[in-house]
Amino acid sequence: MKQQLLRDRIDQVVRENKNDPFRREQELKKLLKEAEKNAERESDLYAIGKISMLLANSILGQGKRGTMLSYAYKAVSIFEKTNERALLARSYNLLGIAYSGLGNYLRAVSAYNNGLRILRGRDCDLIKKNTLLNNISDAYYHMGVYEKSYSISTDCYENYRHTAQDNPLRAIVFGLNVCDSCLGLENYKRAKEILDEIKGEIDNSPKSIYVCAYYTRLSYVLYVTGDMEGGEKFTDMAFDLIDQNLDYYDNHIFYTKIAAIQIDHGDYDRALRYYAAMAKYAEENNHTLDLIMAKSVRANICRARGEQDQALAIYKELSALYETWISQQRAMQYEGQKSLEDANKEIVKLMKKIKSSNELAERDPLTDLMNRSSLIRVSSSFLQTAKEKKRHLGGIFFDIDCFKEYNDHYGHAAGDEAIKLVANVCKSEESATIKFFRYGGDEYFGVILGHSDESIEKLALRISEKVHDAGLEHVLNSNGKRLTVSIGIVNLDMRKSDATILDIIKFADKALYRAKNSGRDCVYAFRYRADSGNEYKQVVQ
Ligand code: GH3
Ligand code: MG
Repeated sequence: MKQQLLRDRIDQVVRENKNDPFRREQELKKLLKEAEKNAERESDLYAIGKISMLLANSILGQGKRGTMLSYAYKAVSIFEKTNERALLARSYNLLGIAYSGLGNYLRAVSAYNNGLRILRGRDCDLIKKNTLLNNISDAYYHMGVYEKSYSISTDCYENYRHTAQDNPLRAIVFGLNVCDSCLGLENYKRAKEILDEIKGEIDNSPKSIYVCAYYTRLSYVLYVTGDMEGGEKFTDMAFDLIDQNLDYYDNHIFYTKIAAIQIDHGDYDRALRYYAAMAKYAEENNHTLDLIMAKSVRANICRARGEQDQALAIYKELSALYETWISQQRAMQYEGQKSLEDANKEIVKLMKKIKSSNELAERDPLTDLMNRSSLIRVSSSFLQTAKEKKRHLGGIFFDIDCFKEYNDHYGHAAGDEAIKLVANVCKSEESATIKFFRYGGDEYFGVILGHSDESIEKLALRISEKVHDAGLEHVLNSNGKRLTVSIGIVNLDMRKSDATILDIIKFADKALYRAKNSGRDCVYAFRYRADSGNEYKQVVQ
């Protein structure tokens, strides 16, 4: 009961402090302390993971990189244990962002890739997938691996263009990422094409840092391809936005490149304005690297004007600034390392506190179904028998429909009851050859040994009917205003297949995705076809 209240309070804190990040952070910290203090069982971990994730998200962009890293790391460590896939993928994304912030791009890429691994097979999470892809391309860009950055950012941009056009801002962000990789590769033609493609979104969007970023890149491409007039025009349009505080540090590398061209052409006034913009940003945000870029532009202007003494003095300052920057980078790495070690210690302490008997490790405390760690053990033994005795091995994957809405409308305590109800339906169907597991939040997986296709289809229809017949009201579910599930099934002949249990889960999950996309509250079967691509069949009474 305590635990359900806590979950509702988490949602409440987020809802009530939507527009006040500072208060949200303070309130979430209080909740985290309370959750950690009261943690007794494995099921208490959900709240701790969720609050840590929300805290990491809350402080994103505040410059507290080490702290963000430790929250994101904590969330990942916990959700890896509790099998919350969507939350785990989100936490990996935050972990990647924290690593990127610390300049550790290799670790960042590995965290983002873990997020993708978790989403794999879930085409419905395209928006989340694109976010991860976009972040991976960004990390490669910062490492200077432009080829990779280009191919990944292009995938992301194309995914967006061809499917989920939900938000014009994404077209701009994804498009600018492709453009940046092109500029890294010195492919100015392609960069210009991309900029032209997103022009419509720019023209329709309000003034923002993204518009300023767009004008900056366009100005650079025009200058570099010899169109001085065009370059000047967009530089001036960018200045207009910079003056309105819409500058963004990601642009600064282009300011230095544009300024170099301007200096070559004797356009010192514009180059000086870029210098001033970067110097102002560096001062306001205490960023050494931006100061280095600003001063380099200033020194180059002096040198071009023949002011050798002044240029020399600035170069001297620059060499001291580089030293400072390097030691700051070192301190940042250390801070990151320290935060991770602290987070690790806290997690170990937490796990010790939670009494985890063997039984607890095998069973999900809420439903008493076996959990995912038992899934591998049980299904491996089924798989071995299926292979030895030349039998079929099947999987059934199901997920409650519109469960987020159920939680929102009826509260988490009622949500837990609904999860238990579906678990009881699973238990009523268990036998020596059918075993069920709570796979994640509202997801259940069953492994089935030696049954015919027809027998598994009937099992799926029975489960769907039993949940239906329980008649639990769910007014936000358009399928009969009651609780329903969507189901995916698969059955493989182990004489002909070398599939692993992970393949069976993946195939059943694909069928489940079909069921979700076909209006929910239905059953789909996956048919493996090695030659002609996979097939899906709706299963009906
Ligand atoms: P869909 O029909 O596409 O499945 O939509 P959905 O709203 O059900 O989406 P999804 O399956 O992604 O949502 C699962 C929700 O289940 C999100 C999470 O807050 C909730 N949840 C996960 N574990 C628990 C739990 O133990 N108790 C409760 N009450 N809610 C949980
Ligand atoms: Mg669901």
